[in-house]
Amino acid sequence: MDPSEAFAALSDPLRVDILRELATAHREPGVETVGFADLRKRVGVRDSGRFRYHLNELRDNFVRKADGGYRLTVTGVETVAAILAGTYTHGGSLGPEPIDSECSACDADAVAVYRDGRCAVTCENDHLLFGWTLPPAAAADATLPEVVSLTELYARQAIERALAGVCPKCSAPVDPRIAVEGDDAEPIDPPGLRVRCETCGGRLVGPVGFCLLVDPAVAAFYRRHDRPLDACHVWEPAFVADDGTVDVVERDPLRVAVEVTLDGDRLAVTVDESGRVSVREG
Ligand SMILES: [Zn+2]
Ligand SMILES: [Zn+2]
Repeated sequence: MDPSEAFAALSDPLRVDILRELATAHREPGVETVGFADLRKRVGVRDSGRFRYHLNELRDNFVRKADGGYRLTVTGVETVAAILAGTYTHGGSLGPEPIDSECSACDADAVAVYRDGRCAVTCENDHLLFGWTLPPAAAADATLPEVVSLTELYARQAIERALAGVCPKCSAPVDPRIAVEGDDAEPIDPPGLRVRCETCGGRLVGPVGFCLLVDPAVAAFYRRHDRPLDACHVWEPAFVADDGTVDVVERDPLRVAVEVTLDGDRLAVTVDESGRVSVREG
């Protein structure tokens, strides 16, 4: 059954409640099936005709009648798990709402929004500062600022895994690369980080600065200057926000220099074609 059929079959919240109660009952020791009257009481519906109607709508696909009672089918069990994980729900949407950051391009307040499993940070002039997916289950019960920092955590982890050659989505091997042109052979200026998984189709697209974001030597440099990278938003460091910090120094093989300067101290950073970072101080 595809999600749209599941949506249709579960259009009434009462039906979702029935599946949930059956799942709860199955977790109790010794409970194989739940009788009609018992199930109706668990779900908390007085009108037995209405309850019977909705229960019947779930039969065959989600619920099976057996041994004088009802139990979940395999699809029913999987559907409850998916509902609890937020797969079939919108997971709530939050914002747009200003957050404690400014646009690097125009200094306007940054505004965050979470919708359809994606967190986006922009400014009122529509500059996109950051966009990343966050599973609805992870966003459940969180405030918008919490969703933003969770999404940043997800992004950092995904970048780290991708640069280590592991697909963040499915764990298949991937080849991270710094691209100077896109799939359509259009030049990318400045070059950017591109990771594409042949196994699951997952993609990661970002600035070269993402490679520096998860580099220990760059992190140590920022910490020494009292600006720990994990205390700022991922879109804020100049090496992420400012295209002007990125410079191609060699074409074949590709080597890109990224300017990192704090309080007049300079860190010489280069990134190779597969996103590996080399750091030299001075
Ligand atoms: Zn802006
Ligand atoms: Zn993958």
